[in-house]
Amino acid sequence: RERVGASAPGAPMLTVLAGPTAVGKGTVAAYVREHYPGIEHSVSVTTRPPRPGEEHGRHYFFVDDEAFDRMLAADELLEWATVHNRYRYGTPRGPVVEASDRGVRILLEIDLQGARQVRASMPEAKLVFLAPPSWDALVGRLLGRGTEDEEERTRRLETAKVELAAAEEFDAVIVNDEVPRAAAALVEIMNGVAR
Ligand code: 5GP
Repeated sequence: RERVGASAPGAPMLTVLAGPTAVGKGTVAAYVREHYPGIEHSVSVTTRPPRPGEEHGRHYFFVDDEAFDRMLAADELLEWATVHNRYRYGTPRGPVVEASDRGVRILLEIDLQGARQVRASMPEAKLVFLAPPSWDALVGRLLGRGTEDEEERTRRLETAKVELAAAEEFDAVIVNDEVPRAAAALVEIMNGVAR
């Protein structure tokens, strides 16, 4: 494990990792969590029910619609989005503000809609786009599970095309060819040593 100490001058406090569906953002973020202590991870609020093995307060804060509405009304979310036309996800504002006050770097792994909101409200945030090694690789990952019907597959591929084009809005692009390498590249950016 590589120790990541206090941030270097010029290192961004707030880094957003976003990218198209199925590119592996969660896997890269989990790798960073495991191998690079010293970087904080924002824990999102979601109305999605927990999957087996997911812990409240670690993977997500699992809340019902009313609780999510209350957080929105109280302006407690830095950004939020409905993902895959289904459940709502949002970033609690408090821990992000508190981490930057303490000079600790924090990583947000969120979808593209959320990344755009962070860009608008916190221009100092560093936006990192995780890209697939190739279009074919993304299609392979999207369709790999083979659990979706034809219509759903077509819909996801259309979404992926639009999402890939968003790369140009970002400060940096990392190709997710190998998870440890992609994670190291992300940490370099968070350390302020790479662009
Ligand atoms: P999952 O349900 O598989 O955990 O996540 C689905 C999607 O929601 C992923 O693309 C993930 O990046 C996104 N997501 C997770 N948390 C947040 C959040 O707080 N805000 C936004 N905008 N997207 C999120």
